[in-house]
Amino acid sequence: MSQTASEPLLAVEGLRVHFPIMRGVVLKRQAATVRAVDGISFSLNAGETLGLVGESGCGKSTTGLAVLRMLSVTEGSIRFEGHDITALDKSAMRPIRRRMQMVYQDPFGSLNPRMKVADIIGEPLVVHGLAEDRAAYRERVAELLRLVGLNAEMGGRYPHEFSGGQRQRIGIARALAVSPALVICDEPVSALDVSIQAQVVNLFQDVQARLGLAYLFIAHDLAVVRHISDRIAVMYLGKIVEVAPRQELYRRPQHPYTRALLAAVPIPNPRVEAGRAHQVLAGEVPSPINPPPGCRFHTRCPLATAACRVEEPVLRELSTGHHVACHLAG
Ligand code: SF4
Repeated sequence: MSQTASEPLLAVEGLRVHFPIMRGVVLKRQAATVRAVDGISFSLNAGETLGLVGESGCGKSTTGLAVLRMLSVTEGSIRFEGHDITALDKSAMRPIRRRMQMVYQDPFGSLNPRMKVADIIGEPLVVHGLAEDRAAYRERVAELLRLVGLNAEMGGRYPHEFSGGQRQRIGIARALAVSPALVICDEPVSALDVSIQAQVVNLFQDVQARLGLAYLFIAHDLAVVRHISDRIAVMYLGKIVEVAPRQELYRRPQHPYTRALLAAVPIPNPRVEAGRAHQVLAGEVPSPINPPPGCRFHTRCPLATAACRVEEPVLRELSTGHHVACHLAG
């Protein structure tokens, strides 16, 4: 069945991604389970950007890989462009993978250093049989280089001849080669200098305005996703704890974890920043092998009550599109 007009581009329902930890040399047995993603639901419309934010280990990158079906889904469902892709095998996923691409954090690690940039960008065209002949291939590669702000002549060079920001542009061009509807951006600017980050975020926005793509934009802090996201979902230890339209989330954060993440975002004015009391999150993120009972955030939450230690809060809608999983919210 294909996507209906009212159906989102991507719909994730009750997604769980668990990894078994095996012990034993001869007789392997499952000793524990890592609950990397533990029951999350969200949707993404065509042309929309959803920021997915949380500390390292919260399950955001695992979510991205599961959506791309590069990881097996333990439970739940993933629908993309009207197709249930939850259990598709590699060959059934192949035509669908063309419509969903990934941009990685480390542009150098994801580019083959021995390939010329034109071949790196053009490779997906060959894999998916999208260039009619050599001339069409060359023209498409040149067009993609120009789209990401590079000269067509730069295609003859190797990745090491480019700066970090330029290499991320090459990674973006490669992702765009097959005309995806969704690009999963996994911390795409966090390895770049702060001065370059804004340029690359602007590029993502320009490309979206031209091509109407949707982005699932994964980041570990709320500063990076601020300008690019339409909506933002905050993840903690495998769960979404708050999701809201961007302005609403920054103006009226409801979950204590979101507030702590926002407090950690530096203010660009040095005088204001110097006089600011930072609310630092106490303690470490607990292990996803043995998450705390009740609210998973209770071990670090300054507002935790006795009920928080036993009762798990569910996501409740407090205002249009603003959902929070906290007993005290609202
Ligand atoms: Fe804190 Fe309790 Fe809310 Fe969890 S449910 S965030 S522990 S106040």
